[in-house]
Amino acid sequence: MIEVEKRRIDDDCRGRPPSLLCARMIVPAGFPTLRPRRLRQTPALRRLVAETRLSAEQLVLPLFVRPGSKVRRPVAAMPGVFQVSPDELIKEATRACTWNVPAVLLFGIPHRKDARASGAYAQSGIVQQAVRLLKKELPDLLVITDVCLCEYMDHGHCGVVRRDKKTARILNDPTLKLLAQTALSHAEAGADIVAPSDMMDGRVRAIRERLDKNGFVDTPIMSYAAKFASAFYGPFREAAESAPQFGDRRSYQMDPANASEALREVMLDLQEGADIVMIKPALAYLDLIYRVKAEFGYPTAAYAVSGEYSMMKAASAKGWLDERAVMLESLLAMRRAGADILITYAATDVARWLKEG
Ligand SMILES: [Zn+2]
Repeated sequence: MIEVEKRRIDDDCRGRPPSLLCARMIVPAGFPTLRPRRLRQTPALRRLVAETRLSAEQLVLPLFVRPGSKVRRPVAAMPGVFQVSPDELIKEATRACTWNVPAVLLFGIPHRKDARASGAYAQSGIVQQAVRLLKKELPDLLVITDVCLCEYMDHGHCGVVRRDKKTARILNDPTLKLLAQTALSHAEAGADIVAPSDMMDGRVRAIRERLDKNGFVDTPIMSYAAKFASAFYGPFREAAESAPQFGDRRSYQMDPANASEALREVMLDLQEGADIVMIKPALAYLDLIYRVKAEFGYPTAAYAVSGEYSMMKAASAKGWLDERAVMLESLLAMRRAGADILITYAATDVARWLKEG
């Protein structure tokens, strides 16, 4: 009987973190011998037995760069977030570095948009300029670039569009070439990691091949592997000026109802050569962060999106929530679920809070 029970526990625990396994196997007795509160008595004791930790080294700060100089345009729905010109970008990135945030994720807002997203892969494009400048001024900072077309397309979609009188279709395969070209131009400018966010099928392979052919075999790809068509992106569209002019993104981004499909998306991106996989949004998708990390064991990133940030900022501004406490708790939850990398608009503040204790 004991053997059967042990086997059942072993089966149950296969592939899960060891902490779960132990909790059920070695319990000697119940209360009053066991008192979980013993380990919660002092801050030092609680820290000693904490299973999950937050550290500045896990943070990535998204930044929005636009042409010009001395530009610092606030994003209304995201207090503390700005569209900045390259000179101001350096200031933001320097501030992040001061608090030990190791990486930024760049989004570009071009001068001009068109139907081929030419600003996305132009050598003199805004992201390419920003990457060169960042790598010159702050060589140790990891520069990750968002690879997509929506900010550069006049229609605001992430791919090439074919329209007839009644319908508009986002074309998959013709988009791949432009995405690969964009990723290559970022790598040539000096990007440390490229991060495709478009959700076209086969983009990771297309980008990997293009990078490899041009000598960038060591440039990692962080794929937005399971990116959901989420209402939590609302404030971002203003920040990146990338709202679609017609239709929505549900023919390429994922249905929030689907978890098994998310695992398949992650599997495909890994097969195509993704080095890091991302779940986006984060807080409403903790189940997927957990499953992706448990299933594949690859470096896993969680993107705490604009809506998550704005909700906490807004409620805190009203005095309804403690901003610092909820931000830290939500990031800790992402770590607990299995995220290795946390992408958050609050990265600099969080890093400062962590240092201040
Ligand atoms: Zn896009």
